[in-house]
Amino acid sequence: MTTTTPIATHYEQFLELLTRDTGDTADGRGAVHARYGERVDSSGGSQAIVMSREEWIRNQIDLALALGRLLTEDDVVVSAVPYELSFVGAEMDRVIEMVGASVISVGTSGTICPMERLLGLIEQYEVTALVCSPSFAAELASLAVSLGQWPQHSAIRTIICAGEACSAERLDRIGAAWAAKTSTLYGTPSTPTAAVACEYGALHLCENRLRAEVRGGRRGELVLEGSPTGELVELWPADRGCDCGAASRVLVPLGSVAAALPGPDAPVSAVDVERIVFGHAGLAPHFACEVRDGTFHVTCAVADPESVADGAMQRLLRSEIVDALGVEAEVTIVDAKDWSTATS
Ligand SMILES: [Zn+2]
Repeated sequence: MTTTTPIATHYEQFLELLTRDTGDTADGRGAVHARYGERVDSSGGSQAIVMSREEWIRNQIDLALALGRLLTEDDVVVSAVPYELSFVGAEMDRVIEMVGASVISVGTSGTICPMERLLGLIEQYEVTALVCSPSFAAELASLAVSLGQWPQHSAIRTIICAGEACSAERLDRIGAAWAAKTSTLYGTPSTPTAAVACEYGALHLCENRLRAEVRGGRRGELVLEGSPTGELVELWPADRGCDCGAASRVLVPLGSVAAALPGPDAPVSAVDVERIVFGHAGLAPHFACEVRDGTFHVTCAVADPESVADGAMQRLLRSEIVDALGVEAEVTIVDAKDWSTATS
């Protein structure tokens, strides 16, 4: 085991940086702009986001404290999250280094490091942790299987999912595919660390630095620091405590507002659909769900397409979704091996 600087020391250095750079502004918040990024707005256009040094560092501190519970200096971590014009990739690199672990940054573009190459790196360097979207983890596992490898026999022991809402049910399926424990992180393009997971797997809002509310009751659009995010979430009331005992509220990400359908009581999201379909054994951890003409178009995958050839499984899933959620749905089940072509 190598000797590394404890996280607490970095934390102190960070706080000193903040005092030096931002302490003299009238409102106590940083006037220094440290980082430029972009986000895609609801009409598909790019919008600039500028983050102050204070926000940037405070996001990193919260992420470092969360990852410090999941990773050690012996970990070799693949970071497959977006880097270009976003905050999360650069933040992830810094935080993994702060924990003292080794990092292999592969990003999400798939140009220099396509998934086949990544599988080679995972084997060669005995990668122990993967930070990526749930879809990426599922696709990488099925690619490994299709190449005759056993993802559950790899050195990967931790998968940290970010960048995409995912039900606990699908997360369990992904963990099983890799024989790894799973955790999640939640952020938005402007606030890369908005909620971090506790040891019970619940995402706690970073209320030490963020003001959050939900439009329209417990389930609705997340408003962070007064700005609507376009993200559908559920926010537990403050008096509904988590078993971990933390005082900060629990946030349940449900995807974008645009990807939800109006339900009988509240908006219905793809995560609600996941909870139903992954109640069935036999489905691969792949999942896609999009809204077209007021209907959820759901795509699932199985390892053995013969088992669903009679269409009974599709009809069963569809009727369960309609009955439980009160929304229209169409269900397609594809061969897990054909997933990337079936959903692109
Ligand atoms: Zn908790």
